[in-house]
Amino acid sequence: MQYYSLAGQAPAADFRTATLKGQAPDRGLYFPSEIPRWGKAFLEELPGMARDEMALRVMEPYVGDNIPSAELHQIVHDTLDFPIPLVPVGNPHSCLELFHGPTLAFKDVGARFMSRCLGWFASERGEKMVVLVATSGDTGGAVAHGFHRVPGIEVVILYPCGKVSTVQEKQLTTLGENIHALEVLGDFDDCQRLVKQAFADSSLQSHLSLSSANSINVARWLPQQLYYILAWQQWTHRPVPPVISVPSGNFGNLCAGMMAWRSGLPVARFIAACNANATVPRFIKGNGYRPQKSIATYSNAMDVADPSNFIRILNILGHSPEDCQIILDADSITDEETLKTIQQVYHRFGYWLDPHGAVGYLALQRWMADHPSLHSGYFLGTAHPVKFPSPIEIAIGTSIPMPEQLQALMSGEKKTTEIPAQYEEVRDFLKRLR
Ligand SMILES: *Cc1c(COP(=O)(O)O)cnc(C)c1O
Repeated sequence: MQYYSLAGQAPAADFRTATLKGQAPDRGLYFPSEIPRWGKAFLEELPGMARDEMALRVMEPYVGDNIPSAELHQIVHDTLDFPIPLVPVGNPHSCLELFHGPTLAFKDVGARFMSRCLGWFASERGEKMVVLVATSGDTGGAVAHGFHRVPGIEVVILYPCGKVSTVQEKQLTTLGENIHALEVLGDFDDCQRLVKQAFADSSLQSHLSLSSANSINVARWLPQQLYYILAWQQWTHRPVPPVISVPSGNFGNLCAGMMAWRSGLPVARFIAACNANATVPRFIKGNGYRPQKSIATYSNAMDVADPSNFIRILNILGHSPEDCQIILDADSITDEETLKTIQQVYHRFGYWLDPHGAVGYLALQRWMADHPSLHSGYFLGTAHPVKFPSPIEIAIGTSIPMPEQLQALMSGEKKTTEIPAQYEEVRDFLKRLR
């Protein structure tokens, strides 16, 4: 499989190059030159197919011969090595719970796949690689856990001091070994600036092999389609296809589902469930693509005004709202509605939603109300509610039981290097890693 740049000014790349580079040299996003079509036989076998076999067969065309089949088998096995159940939450809704991985959020899936691919490429080269990433919270934890103990790779995570939640900080700072946390005395923008400076520093690059764990990386993006297939395997209404509501920020998750649909997965409708950051819902309703300043909400992992993956969706569907409406609807949910939804769902069904899942739930419910009969659907539970305790405690007035994974984590010891927000500090730290 070849990958081309959506900015159109860079040479095509294979999976290895696209993964190592993250972004094309013309700053475009990589996109596969073709979307594989699953045959009829594959679709018929799919409901009963074993996880690993399904994942291997779906990912193989994207990876090509860049990773040997036996190795890729191990990689997909590790990627999906936790439960991803489709759980009924009132009728006719279900939640695809993507939060049973090590950092209790769906980003674990993409991060695990990418980390193991990079690990393989590093071992092939026989040279140590450094993955550098800035995080405002969630990404860093998934990346840290994804790469923990992957041989040949050191990970350096920059995060803003005092601006991530306690759980998030523990996830970044307690692993140690090949995971290094830099606590930057500044904000998230400073962290991003420092990372960009490192990638622009050619003298540093001659010292070490630097890679990013950016969410636009094809190795993080593409494996996310696997859980939409796991949902289909558990879908009790087969052969009637589901309506799927996806809490969306940067739109990587939704776009991955769309790739599976393009390959042949039965889907009635995708709903882009957004919070107050409603650039895409406005676009889909025909009001133009006009990103505004991002707004802080309870579902803060979706506080994105100009989603980087949306261009990939346009590339799949076409560039007009009418092109998109063929399969995609979008809705925007306020913070007030989010809290109310958390409250209602808890009181009616005894189910804990996190703010992101609540946005997905309500967008699905509203769509159903507008399109009565025939349909049933599920929403993606993108994070465990315990990761976002405060608004939920406000909503329900009681605290959430802590899952076991987290109890161990919270007792871990924080290890960080505190640095001022100056590039020289980052550079010197990276140079000492070799
Ligand atoms: C990242 C994230 C999202 C948004 O996913 P995108 O792929 O960026 O649209 C939603 N919910 C949670 C909990 C997240 O961490």
